[in-house]
Amino acid sequence: MRNTFLDKKDTKNSILKKRILSRCIEEGEFSIAALSKELVTSVPTVTKLIQELMDEGFMVDLGKHGTSGGRRPSVFGLNPEAGYFVGVDVRHSHATLAVTDFKGNLIYFSEDRPFVLKNNEESILTLSTSIRDYTDSVHLDWNKVLGLGISVTGRINPETGESYSYPLPSGKTISGILSEELGTRVIIENDSRAMAYGEYLDGIAEKENNMLFINVSWGLGMGIILGGNLFYGKSGFAGEFGHFPYFNNDIICRCGKIGCFETGASGTALHREVLAGLRSGRASTLTDKYNRGDKITINDIYKAVREEDVLCIEKVQEVGELLGRGLAGLINIFNPELVVIGGKMAVTGDYLMLPIRSAVKKHSQNFVGRDTHIKFTKLGHQAAPIGAALLSRSRLLRVF
Ligand SMILES: [Zn+2]
Repeated sequence: MRNTFLDKKDTKNSILKKRILSRCIEEGEFSIAALSKELVTSVPTVTKLIQELMDEGFMVDLGKHGTSGGRRPSVFGLNPEAGYFVGVDVRHSHATLAVTDFKGNLIYFSEDRPFVLKNNEESILTLSTSIRDYTDSVHLDWNKVLGLGISVTGRINPETGESYSYPLPSGKTISGILSEELGTRVIIENDSRAMAYGEYLDGIAEKENNMLFINVSWGLGMGIILGGNLFYGKSGFAGEFGHFPYFNNDIICRCGKIGCFETGASGTALHREVLAGLRSGRASTLTDKYNRGDKITINDIYKAVREEDVLCIEKVQEVGELLGRGLAGLINIFNPELVVIGGKMAVTGDYLMLPIRSAVKKHSQNFVGRDTHIKFTKLGHQAAPIGAALLSRSRLLRVF
């Protein structure tokens, strides 16, 4: 691992340097005068710090920009080659990897690498080998890797690195083991929050600072960005939209409770309702497979939707209508500028989106609903690994 000012104890100057780098992430480029104003720091100090950041390879002089006429100042920005960040989205049966440069541009991506996530140390060691095998295959120099971000489903405490869904018997954490094995800083994050962050910095968000990312997959998760920052709550459990006690049903949720919103609005619900339709004899392209006794997977259902199967489309629309009702509630609470619909069910496109929009319009307060745009994810299955990589960068530059 390369030794930089980021590895040393924070001083007044190193904090200012981190803030300069963070502002460049948000805005792209700055003149010395603009940075000096922004950081309320003298021009000579900012000049000196930028020179140091350039000497250390973190920043570059981008030349003179701006309108013609008058003296045009030089502007400075991040050096994309200053280092790399690796992001890994860990699923039950595979992992997806992304590598970004220092500016956050995606430079390598590999999906569906076989891997089985289990509650034991060997499983995490296998993951470590798989990450290393991939980065070696693209000749990534680990000496230039500044951080690794892991995205995992379930409840996470990002500060302690604990995964409550995958606790290890040894008491070690997933991030602790990977950090030891790979010799770099490792952060761990909940998948919906990683997706939200990826979409916020590198995806569909433009200038919106208040954004909700809805992860409609097997479960239903949410990442919340408020005022440009991820919202965690006290212990990192904020955003459990899927477990909002919504229904008076008797369906047991994955969390063990009954009546959770997810029991009606998620991949689990879609799967259950399509199966119920098949059982009751509804016509579908999946009927033959069902009658043969073969397992119907959620991916079979998404495929059937693409092939315009009426039963599956109808059930996606019912999920969309419910999701829209739930979103109307969230929109009334958060007044966000942007709601991003992501996760696996996003592949159903307008069959999901149209009932969402219609229900949001019907159920949200008019004056609040007008402020909110609802869009599909731009990054798709790249959102979580890219977000995890970028979160490892933001953790590196965090000022305490
Ligand atoms: Zn629940």
